[in-house]
Amino acid sequence: MYPFIEVECPGCETHLRVPSSAAGRRGTCPRCHALVEVPRPTPPSPEGGDPAPRCTSARLQALFEELAVLLGKKVRERSVVDRKLLVFDIVTDEAADRTQVVTVSETRDRAGEPALLLHSTVGTIFRHDHAIEALKSAESDASMSVSLDDQSTLSVRALMDDSPPVEAAKLKPLLMRLAKLADVMEEKIFHWDRT
Ligand SMILES: [Zn+2]
Repeated sequence: MYPFIEVECPGCETHLRVPSSAAGRRGTCPRCHALVEVPRPTPPSPEGGDPAPRCTSARLQALFEELAVLLGKKVRERSVVDRKLLVFDIVTDEAADRTQVVTVSETRDRAGEPALLLHSTVGTIFRHDHAIEALKSAESDASMSVSLDDQSTLSVRALMDDSPPVEAAKLKPLLMRLAKLADVMEEKIFHWDRT
C-alpha cells in the first residue's frame, strides 16, 4: 500500500493526489466540483515483489510490529514501503467506514538528533480557503503542522523527538490524533461519498 493515489479528474483533467484510504470512494474535485471516483489499486501479483518487505532499520521494524499490536483492530492495513516507510491505514470512524493513511519514518530534527516523522497526505488543493480552513482545524493541536508541497498536495505532519527511542505506546496517541485531523481536513476538501 502506497500513502496516496493519483487520479485524473474527469471534469477538468487535473491530476489529483488523494490518500489511498479514499480508494473506491466518490467525491468532488476541489477545482471544478466534478464527481471523481477513486479506483481501487490492483493487488500486487504473488510473484511480483517481496510479500512481506522489512525495514532496513531494525528499530523501525520493531516499532512497526509493536504499533500493529497496540493499534489492533484500529489498523485496517499496514505495509513497509521502500524498506524505510511504515504505512498504516487507521480506522478513524468505524460507523462511517472511514480510514486514514499515516506513515512513520526515521528522520533528524533541526539539531541533527534522531526523530520520528509522522505524515498523512490530505490531498491536492486549489483554493486558498481550503488551506485556511485546514489550518484552522490544525490549530487544535500544537504538535502537528500542515504543509503544502510544490504539487499543491496538502499534508499533516508531526515530528517526535526519538532520543532516547520513543516507545510505541507513546507514539500511538499521536498517530491516532494525526489520522483524525487529516481525516477532518480531507472530508472538507473532497466530500467523499457525500455527493
Ligand atoms: Zn476537476
